[in-house]
Amino acid sequence: MPRKIAAGNWKMNGQRENLRELQRLEDLHGDADIAILICPPATLISACEDTPFDIGGQDCHSAVSGAHTGDVSADMLADAGASYVLTGHSERRTDHGETDALVAAKSVAAIDAGLIAVICIGETLDERESGKTLNVIDTQLAGSLPDSANAQDCVIAYEPVWAIGTGKVPTLEQIAEVHAHIRARLNARFEDGDEFSLLYGGSVKGSNAAEIFGVANVDGALVGGASLKAKDFSPIITALERA
Ligand code: PEP
Repeated sequence: MPRKIAAGNWKMNGQRENLRELQRLEDLHGDADIAILICPPATLISACEDTPFDIGGQDCHSAVSGAHTGDVSADMLADAGASYVLTGHSERRTDHGETDALVAAKSVAAIDAGLIAVICIGETLDERESGKTLNVIDTQLAGSLPDSANAQDCVIAYEPVWAIGTGKVPTLEQIAEVHAHIRARLNARFEDGDEFSLLYGGSVKGSNAAEIFGVANVDGALVGGASLKAKDFSPIITALERA
């Protein structure tokens, strides 16, 4: 069975005082039997060392070290206490022009550093409206997911770009179609394709989490805005525990 993961992406939000949200979350879900992953800004990773939750970076460089001012390597994230890292988030692909090849290189660096890479893929609104969603997913999966990956060191997050931070959510049928497609592609390519955790991301909230987690091949969520406050993230975690 793929592991269930409730993942929170804090993006460029949060300072030390916001770590009290993790304490609140620990009071509610400290003994959860699903994986709870928090991806704070890199500046807060080492300050999270006492949390029972998994901690992840939001990006890493593809090199181990070197002359890359402002970047953080996967080894540095691991050294700071991370066990996961997001790669290929659409905001990285858009803001920093990250290509599938670069996302694959970052994912390899993450795996080599002992991190689990959460590889993000998803179509834009234009691509969906012109019927290209599954083609885009195929291209991104083929280009971003390294051949050396396996279900223990990679997670796939399907995040339609048009659903991120917009309050718009695909229909359950649309989520089911894409997740089934991803599962089929993983099974065709990897012996343990059935074991990969597939997360849905894009405007997940307490009010829609249960129905999304009821969709086949959805093993959890990557959550942005609703992961910042324990009171908003907690119902999502509870819905995943019950799914
Ligand atoms: C995200 O940042 O990956 C995300 C899904 O954001 P939101 O939940 O705010 O749509």
